[in-house]
Amino acid sequence: MDELPEFGMRVLEVLRQPLEDKVVTISRARGASSFPANFMLVGAMNPCPCGYFGDPIKQCSCSSAIVTRYQKRISGPLLDRIDIHVEVPRVDFDKLADDRLGEPSVKIRERVELAREIQRKRLEGTEMTCNADMRPTEVRKFCPLDDLGKGIVRQAMSQLQLSARAFHRILKLARTIADLSQESDIEPSHLAEALQYRPRRWN
Ligand SMILES: [Zn+2]
Repeated sequence: MDELPEFGMRVLEVLRQPLEDKVVTISRARGASSFPANFMLVGAMNPCPCGYFGDPIKQCSCSSAIVTRYQKRISGPLLDRIDIHVEVPRVDFDKLADDRLGEPSVKIRERVELAREIQRKRLEGTEMTCNADMRPTEVRKFCPLDDLGKGIVRQAMSQLQLSARAFHRILKLARTIADLSQESDIEPSHLAEALQYRPRRWN
């Protein structure tokens, strides 16, 4: 969903149920029906209507009230259900003109497939196939933390005022980051990376 805030709040709020339960319930006068709705949401948005809020070079032409109203179109509960938030700042010329290429997609794909395989094996015998599917019971079983890890999460929970939902999502994401580097335990660095992907309001 490109330009996420443009979809309107009512449309966006309806996404909350399928994002959480992977089903969508349609209610009509004659009754309600639930349908499977398992999908991966990928969305992009600007920081403000003109697109330059927070830009180090070009000045934003929006009033602060407009910026706030724009950002508030994505509600806290919806933000809470998105696992990975990444800010994409302006790329400077030196980086664009650099001849060195990043890691090729083929290599990354291999790593992802391996991580998926690890997850399939871990969840064998259940109807779940990947970390995102895990319920609190599985999170407790497969995402144990050592004392250092527990301390990091405890601090983050109070500093970022995280919900119980966010807590589980962070653990699942940390588990995936560990799987991608083929580590059997969730290390503090995996947790720290997962925490970096929590939403940050610009203002
Ligand atoms: Zn602006």
